[in-house]
Amino acid sequence: MNTIKDINIENKKVIIRCDFNVPIKDGKIIDDTRISAALETIKYCLDKNCKIILLSHLGRVKEASDLEKNDLKPVAKRLSELLNKEVLFCDKTRGKELEEMVNNLNEKDILLIQNTRYEDLDGKKESSNDEELGTYWASLGEVFINDAFGTAHRAHASNVGIASHLPSAIGFLIEKELTALHTLDNPDHPFVVILGGAKVADKIGVIENLVTKADKILIGGGMAFTFLKAQGYEIGKSLLDEENIDFCKKILKEYPEKIVLPVDFAVTNEYTNDEEYRTKDIDSFSKEEMGLDLGPKTIKLFSEELLKAKQVIWNGPLGVYEFEKYKYATDEILKYLVENNIKTILGGGDSVAAAEKAGVKDKVYHASTGGGATLEYLEGKKLPGVEAIK
Ligand code: AMP
Repeated sequence: MNTIKDINIENKKVIIRCDFNVPIKDGKIIDDTRISAALETIKYCLDKNCKIILLSHLGRVKEASDLEKNDLKPVAKRLSELLNKEVLFCDKTRGKELEEMVNNLNEKDILLIQNTRYEDLDGKKESSNDEELGTYWASLGEVFINDAFGTAHRAHASNVGIASHLPSAIGFLIEKELTALHTLDNPDHPFVVILGGAKVADKIGVIENLVTKADKILIGGGMAFTFLKAQGYEIGKSLLDEENIDFCKKILKEYPEKIVLPVDFAVTNEYTNDEEYRTKDIDSFSKEEMGLDLGPKTIKLFSEELLKAKQVIWNGPLGVYEFEKYKYATDEILKYLVENNIKTILGGGDSVAAAEKAGVKDKVYHASTGGGATLEYLEGKKLPGVEAIK
């Protein structure tokens, strides 16, 4: 697959699909990580004297009232500060004004176009990969670089649509993500998977895809209780994914030696951070109790498995990490992986947010920016935004 270094972009009009889907409150950007992550590709294009056209979505646009809060303009300002260079902004996604701005670009000029999802107001043109829209955007440039990993699992006009009309390549961010994730195709063994989070339903595809490759799958978080229920334990008021008890039974029967379940938990009577911290073994839950985090015996059990691992992939927090008391197991295991230098990929979303909170995000082998895209990769699915480049 072409990376940005494989194609000729020198002096060309380059369209870069970025992921500038940043949290914005009252017109202010709260976290600019995603903008910083795009700089390497943009700077490379500047060095190659390109005329740079940037596209990104921001939030969801379903009705006219969604337009203002999803205006990309604050991103142009922040990007300009980070690059220490002017960034032009066109608040239209098509039309004469945009075309004139594009035609007037000089080498090393940067133009950010308004939120691609503004086109969703008119029959979901962006999100349904409308042919006319993809062709139109492609007509604005000469080369296309996709660097938006966060939307690589979607076939939209601004990624797949444009790529089908122009010479295309992936940018540095997507390259970095894929290089890390590809190591999972032939992982170093022992290969240990850590799964947490709320629902079994969301992780079925991941379990089915990874169970044959993994040496162990350590299951924590709310989803552990459906497995424990499948084994006949009383789980009190803990989270239960009733519909998937049979799936858990099947996995436990087929791979009894691979699945490692918790043996104790931090428990409460209500879903709150306010009760005194206490732990219980899994065989002594009362009907009134719920488990909100793994207990110390399970942390030890998981740590022993992890110490043997040559490679780890982790998706989903091991407890209710939003509550100060019940982020304990997630933090302990994160620190353990870092301290013992265990090659770990954090698979996006909550696990990365937890690592960020614990201050270890930059110390792991790879913290994916992907969320949905990473999860679909772990399910063994192809990513349309990447396939289109091939
Ligand atoms: P997911 O999006 O599936 O990765 O789930 C993340 C959510 O799982 C977080 O919001 C956690 O609060 C929640 N979670 C983790 N452990 C538990 C638990 N033991 N009980 C209830 N929710 C949990």
